Amino acid sequence: MDIRVTMRRTSRLSLRIGKKGEVRVSAPYGTSERTISDFVEKHADWIRRAQERTLQREQTRSDFFAQLPLQTRVQRQEAKDRLDAIVRPWIEHYSEQMGVRPQFLTYKATRSRWGSCHTGRKAICLSLYLLLLPEWCIEHTVVHEMVHLLVPNHGTRFHSLMDRFFPRWREARAETRRVSRME
Ligand SMILES: [Zn+2]
Repeated sequence: MDIRVTMRRTSRLSLRIGKKGEVRVSAPYGTSERTISDFVEKHADWIRRAQERTLQREQTRSDFFAQLPLQTRVQRQEAKDRLDAIVRPWIEHYSEQMGVRPQFLTYKATRSRWGSCHTGRKAICLSLYLLLLPEWCIEHTVVHEMVHLLVPNHGTRFHSLMDRFFPRWREARAETRRVSRME
């Protein structure tokens, strides 16, 4: 079993399962190896069940992304063109509405996030995997990143702008998570 121990300032032992199914234990400084292995032993059933759940979730996630193969340059280019055709009109529309326009728009095959924004450079990057989402969820991502051109964080001002430009943002976020089965 792959067990990683982190010693930290804590008063008790705790346990979680990492993305690859590894067992992550955090323990107070000075805990003996014996105490840690007893602790892991005692929770063996829980660990096994949690590992199965993790593996299943990772499988579902990789099945989801596998629907859009992006291994070759041609595949990526084709996806870029397709996404760009969907996204451009919204960028235009919301640039007018918001009074701010991205200076750079790039597309990448990122799985960890749908989009990102560099407020200072006015640069937006969108995931090609957005093509796997319903169009209104793609639109939501575009608006989310464009609002970041005005507000870098997710504070109150950010959310009030989302309410104004894309009132269904909460539903869209939930739908995006449901479709991509990301927690
Ligand atoms: Zn954000």
